[in-house]
Amino acid sequence: MLYLHIPYCHRKCTYCAFYSTVTASGTQAYVDALCLELKRRSHCMEHPLRTVYFGGGTPSLLPVGQLAQVVDAIRNHYDTTALEEVTIETNPEDLTPAYLADLRGLAFFNRVSIGVQSFHDDDLRLLNRRHDSCQAFEALENTVAAGFEHLSVDLIYGLPGQSVEDWLDNLSRLNDIPFGHLSAYALTVEEGTMLQSQIEQGRVVPCDEAMQLSHYHALLQWAEAHGFHQYEISNFARPGHRAVHNSRYWNRTPYLGVGAAAHSFDGLYRRWNVADVKRYVDSVMAGPIDHDEEELGLKDAHNEYLMTALRTVEGIDKRLVAPPFAARLQHDIQRFVTNGLICDTPTHYRPTPEGLLHADGIAADLFV
Ligand code: SF4
Repeated sequence: MLYLHIPYCHRKCTYCAFYSTVTASGTQAYVDALCLELKRRSHCMEHPLRTVYFGGGTPSLLPVGQLAQVVDAIRNHYDTTALEEVTIETNPEDLTPAYLADLRGLAFFNRVSIGVQSFHDDDLRLLNRRHDSCQAFEALENTVAAGFEHLSVDLIYGLPGQSVEDWLDNLSRLNDIPFGHLSAYALTVEEGTMLQSQIEQGRVVPCDEAMQLSHYHALLQWAEAHGFHQYEISNFARPGHRAVHNSRYWNRTPYLGVGAAAHSFDGLYRRWNVADVKRYVDSVMAGPIDHDEEELGLKDAHNEYLMTALRTVEGIDKRLVAPPFAARLQHDIQRFVTNGLICDTPTHYRPTPEGLLHADGIAADLFV
């Protein structure tokens, strides 16, 4: 698994706590550094690549010529003969027919993920998104017409002032779009974001928990009615369209992450590159890449597994629980079985639909 971080955005969304920089200048120096890191760290990837993910930031902000340079570096330094899924995260305003045709021309990407977030212009303004609802529709139509194998749409619910009807209206705009994957996230107010200060200043009233819960239940009903299977708390897929790359993160598959702020995991160590474009580029060009790393102890690995597994419909695979913690988990989880949040099957502890909604709290309760 290979992840590439493209840390540029046209502007900062109010809710975003990811590392990104609001400028498109300097992308060539960044791409050159990325290609050099790809070359220098290719020894970290022992197996043929099965998935590649261009995330951000906004990868579609890069001109296709620069993406082509990165694709060439991957093809030159990695075994790409077994690739199943290559995703690029995009924003609607970038997805013109010409851009998509050039992207298809690279014969590399087979999955496009589009950050629509809402089809309502007032929501998009509130979130400080650059596109409007017309551009969102055009982007969907253009991407379908361009013929990519997999199309994923991101939406956000639990927005300030959003009623259940508003949310259902958003979902219904997708009814006629032939797409296979939906990521629907509950809006969370992260530390240090514009949204947090707007709320603190009383300029924005957050959606309350009960309303967010109603949105979630409306989402589950819409998904079932339209042939989408929920496989993670925020992810829904039609048959054959599950996100392979993200699913492997949840199974603790090792991955290599390149680029500023990108994380890597080799099964034992977590490593993350410096979250600063200039320091990243300078260090790659000068020699050792500026990064930190930590060894994941048995406890941390166990807790991390609980945290990710409980957000998936499969839940915790009992065979993957570290033996020193298996008996304690079997004991502690029973209270969630009793109150209907977890099903205890011979092979798994599976969250119920209600349990999925409380996944983070249940996991925190079960930590060792
Ligand atoms: S486009 Fe994505 S990464 Fe960029 S600011 Fe918005 S949410 Fe954050």
